[in-house]
Amino acid sequence: MRITCPYCGARNLEEFTYRGDATVKRPESIEETARDAWIDYVYLRDNPAGLHKELWHHSAGCHAWLQVTRDTTTHEIVDVERVAKER
Ligand SMILES: [Zn+2]
Repeated sequence: MRITCPYCGARNLEEFTYRGDATVKRPESIEETARDAWIDYVYLRDNPAGLHKELWHHSAGCHAWLQVTRDTTTHEIVDVERVAKER
């Protein structure tokens, strides 16, 4: 599998580190009422079949954080975007 970094071009997977599901959002509340939302955020992940947004770090390259849209059934990468600093 190769990922096309917006800065470096197409590079082998070994240059990148998978950093997780890009769709997970941190709960805003730290109150006890948000306990279930925190359990979901920290421990529970979906295992989707098909297109999925993932965070990848170009750890052996330019150190850019990327959001990669990948088909989990074929490993085809359909989109790569750099992650904005606001995340
Ligand atoms: Zn790069």
